[in-house]
Amino acid sequence: MKIDILTLFPAMFASPFNESIIERARTRKLVEINTVNIRDYALGRHQQVDDYPYGGGAGMVMKFDVLSRAIGSLKGENSRVIYLSPQGKPLDQDTVVRVARQEHLILLCGHYEGIDERIMNLVDEELSIGDYVLSGGELAAMVVVDAVTRLIPGVLGDDNSSQEESFVGGLLEYPHYTRPRIYQGEEVPETLLSGHHEQIRLWRKKLSLKRTLIKRPDLLLKREYDQEERKLLEEILFNGEKKTK
Ligand code: SAM
Repeated sequence: MKIDILTLFPAMFASPFNESIIERARTRKLVEINTVNIRDYALGRHQQVDDYPYGGGAGMVMKFDVLSRAIGSLKGENSRVIYLSPQGKPLDQDTVVRVARQEHLILLCGHYEGIDERIMNLVDEELSIGDYVLSGGELAAMVVVDAVTRLIPGVLGDDNSSQEESFVGGLLEYPHYTRPRIYQGEEVPETLLSGHHEQIRLWRKKLSLKRTLIKRPDLLLKREYDQEERKLLEEILFNGEKKTK
C-alpha cells in the first residue's frame, strides 16, 4: 500500500512514522508513506496557501487552486482521496478495515479554518477521528495511518493479533494477564492457568461480552448473537459474578 499525506507541516510526521510497527513496516516495504508539502504547489514568490474567506469572518481558508494541483499531481486510477475533517464519518474499525484494502491513499490535512469547499469534488471520503476540533488534520492522519498499517498482512508479527481485538466481531477484547502470577495479593484468574483451551476460550468470550456490556453497551445493540453467546450473556445477567472479574 502507498499512502501520500498532503500537509503544510511534513516535519510533524517524522517521529511517529520512524518508530515501532510503522517504522518496521516501512523498512520491510509493506507500506510506503510519503509526506507531501502542500506549499510546493503554491505559486508566486510568497507561495501563498491560504486566503481570507469570501463573505468575511475569522480565520483563513486553504486555497482551492493549490490543493487541486497537489491532489492532481498524486492521484492515479486506484487512488482514494480522504479529507480528515471534524465533519467526516467517525472513524471506526470497520472503516479502517475497508480503507486498509485500498492500493493508494491520499490523506488531505486541513488547517486554519479549513479548505475551500470546491475541493470536495476531488475528495472521495471525509473521515473524522472524533467529535472535537483539532487545529489541523495531521494528528488525525497519523491515527488513520497507524490503524490502517497494522492491518496490512505481514505488518504485525502474528496476523491473528488483529483478528482477536476490540471491535472485531463487535465486542471489546477480553482482559490479559502476564507474570507474576500473584502480586500484592492480586491473582491471575484460575481458568487461565488451567491449560484447558475450551474453558479459556469460553472464559474469554464471556469476559468480552461482560466488558462490552459495562463499557460500551451501544456496541451490543448493533450485533447478533449465536446460541453460545446468548447463554453466556444470560449467565452474566442472571447468575452473578462467578470468576468473571
Ligand atoms: N472550521 C472547521 C469546522 O468547524 O468544521 C474546522 C477546521 S479545523 C480548525 C482545521 C483542520 O483540522 C480541518 O480542516 C481538518 O483537516 C482538521 N480536523 C479538525 N478536527 C478534526 C477531527 N475531529 N478529525 C479529523 N480532522 C480534523
